[in-house]
Amino acid sequence: MTELEELRKRIEDITIEMLSLLKTRTEIAQEIGKIKNKEGMSVSNESREDELRELVKRQSKEINFNSNTALKFLNFLLNESVKVQSSESNTHLAIFLKAKELEQKGKKIIHLEVGEPDFQPPINVKKALSEVYDRGFGKYGPAKGLPEFRTKLAEFASKNFDVNINSENIMVTPGARFGVFLSITTLLDPEDEIIVIEPAWPAYRQCAINAGIKVRSVKTTLENNWEPNIEEISSCVNDNTKMIVLNYPNNPTGKILPKALQDKILEIVKKHDLYILSDEIYSNYSNEEWKSILSYNYEKSIVTQSFSKSHSMTGYRIGYLISSQKIIEKLAKLQALCLTNVSEPIQYISMKSLEDDVTENVKIMNERLAKLEFICKEMELEFFRPDGAMYIFARTKNPINTSKLSEELLNYGVAIAPGIGFGDYNEFFRISACLDIKTIIKGMDILKTRL
Ligand code: PMP
Repeated sequence: MTELEELRKRIEDITIEMLSLLKTRTEIAQEIGKIKNKEGMSVSNESREDELRELVKRQSKEINFNSNTALKFLNFLLNESVKVQSSESNTHLAIFLKAKELEQKGKKIIHLEVGEPDFQPPINVKKALSEVYDRGFGKYGPAKGLPEFRTKLAEFASKNFDVNINSENIMVTPGARFGVFLSITTLLDPEDEIIVIEPAWPAYRQCAINAGIKVRSVKTTLENNWEPNIEEISSCVNDNTKMIVLNYPNNPTGKILPKALQDKILEIVKKHDLYILSDEIYSNYSNEEWKSILSYNYEKSIVTQSFSKSHSMTGYRIGYLISSQKIIEKLAKLQALCLTNVSEPIQYISMKSLEDDVTENVKIMNERLAKLEFICKEMELEFFRPDGAMYIFARTKNPINTSKLSEELLNYGVAIAPGIGFGDYNEFFRISACLDIKTIIKGMDILKTRL
């Protein structure tokens, strides 16, 4: 055997050995998953992961191996464990789908779980729908969106978010969800790390895991008014950290960060040259002072916006990204690969809807939220009074397993979103204010009987 052949044989043997170790590790992870499930524990455990990280760092030093590579390898292993342990059966989307199934069988369900405003889309949508055929929209188009629409969006965003952007900073997407997916998938590599402040909309975590990216969650608490601890964010950052996700006004808590705290987060982001993905789709539902991340003029920020909530156009699947031209160029490549372009007729319709005034919807949503707050107080639920968005994230005085409660409530005709879908918040549940007050009251009356 030549030296090369011998070395290749050794590589082969080591690879096979690692494979069987990985198999054993995966089986153990599965066993741990079963126990966690039985005990109602969440899949990710930051302090346990931190212990492993320290162990790996120490060992790398001892054997004189690059700790960054070692930590990336650990991230791969941790994500594999998360994958085998995760059951997504408890997100609000899962409850929504179960509710829909029951409805197909004839059961009536009050949907307090879903963030879908019941308002009609703005009136210009109706007019534009009747125009779009004759105007000839309906061909392939540029991946970033119709130029005229991008220009209008840039004007709209500059005016509403108090920034100065132009059409090169805009890309139209089929909803903010796809914008989130594109940003995470394009800008990060497998085994990189992303910081998510929890409770959080589940898709940030799911997109990251799907792309092999490690999620570092920073947990916030009701006791602390859902404000993240700056030191905790700082201590999560290492050489593999590439992005932090913010979502204010927040789904599910309704929190808007105080400006000083947001400034501090930006300092960390700039210091470590991170991307900041700011999901601002609830920005027009802000009742407290809110400042777009765009106002910091930071090159590596990506903002997602959507017509789903602001214009009550969830099913039209339309949103947009705002970022530097350089980032937009990168993201446009994956969009072109995945879907060529967003449907032209829908872009045209959405462009027209920018001319409508949607402030009345915000007023109605606030009235509903106020009523919901009143009911929750009466029920002695514990919650933070939302600064914005369209939800209340609450818990009972004596903690209960809300995953079980959500399943059970379906039989009584009410759907709520269990807290576990937003992180390690099994005792919380989210109620949405997207229905008319009468229906909300009816749903809450049923909920009352089950608590
Ligand atoms: N971000 C957040 C925080 C959301 O709550 C949602 C939908 N519930 C989305 C993004 C997705 O929005 P879209 O319908 O534009 O994909």
